[in-house]
Amino acid sequence: MFFKLPCLYYVFDSFANIRPMEKPSSIVVLTGAGISAESGIETFRAADGLWANHPVDEVATPEGFARNPQLVYEFYNQRREQVLSDDINPNAAHTALAKFEHEFEGNFLLVTQNIDNLHERAGSRNVLHMHGELLKMRCLNSQMVFDIRESLNFDTQCQCCRSPGNLRPHVVWFGEMPFHMNQINMALEACDIFVAIGTSGNVYPASSFYQTAKIRRAHTVELNLEETGSSFDAHVYGQATEVVPRYFEGLLT
Ligand code: NAD
Repeated sequence: MFFKLPCLYYVFDSFANIRPMEKPSSIVVLTGAGISAESGIETFRAADGLWANHPVDEVATPEGFARNPQLVYEFYNQRREQVLSDDINPNAAHTALAKFEHEFEGNFLLVTQNIDNLHERAGSRNVLHMHGELLKMRCLNSQMVFDIRESLNFDTQCQCCRSPGNLRPHVVWFGEMPFHMNQINMALEACDIFVAIGTSGNVYPASSFYQTAKIRRAHTVELNLEETGSSFDAHVYGQATEVVPRYFEGLLT
């Protein structure tokens, strides 16, 4: 929350201490599965989350895909079908970030670990999907990326090779390198404020972004349902649809 004084903005840290900082000119936001939970997409680590029914090494590793591609296709086909259903829509937290991006006069980068398309559907423009996208597939031969809305299986023909078995979900699996890391690191090193929303901090390298941001003394903030144990400068706990609109409206006033 900022209060304008002649040249300074004041930031509330956990409502306990207040420290002055200059008007922010650059903000990086990282989102995780928690921001889409209230839209009806399960997080991975909740007791009833995705991992409970789908072992990670079977559906989210290159080795699992090599062992049983059909199982992996089916897992992502179900996720894709869910995201495309009429029941799944952006929530107030996605919308608040899109509104903020539109109104903020400085640099704004939204990095998401999510593979859904809810940020784009809410109107966000400058979004980097570091873990890939559910509505894209990739050719294993050419590395070309294609849009996909229908189900994918081992017999689906690649649009460039015209042969089956060459396509995989355009999703980063455990053990693979996330996308856009150079761009993300440059933005983290230059930002004044770093905000992590709805992420447990269990997946590296996203879990270390707040430390990178701190190198240049950025103010780091966590908005999450519950404590994650990470050492941000400020923590605001609550449902994303409540805390995200409130926090970002505060930044604009
Ligand atoms: P995670 O499941 O490890 O953690 C989710 C975090 O969100 C938890 O800390 C939880 O307390 C918090 N949370 C849950 N509901 C919330 C709410 N309503 N408001 C605010 N916070 C809430 O997810 P992760 O840290 O993002 O890491 C898991 C990996 O799996 C990431 O790559 C993630 O994006 C991916 N994933 C993506 C989707 C999706 O695209 N929507 C869904 C599941 C998992």
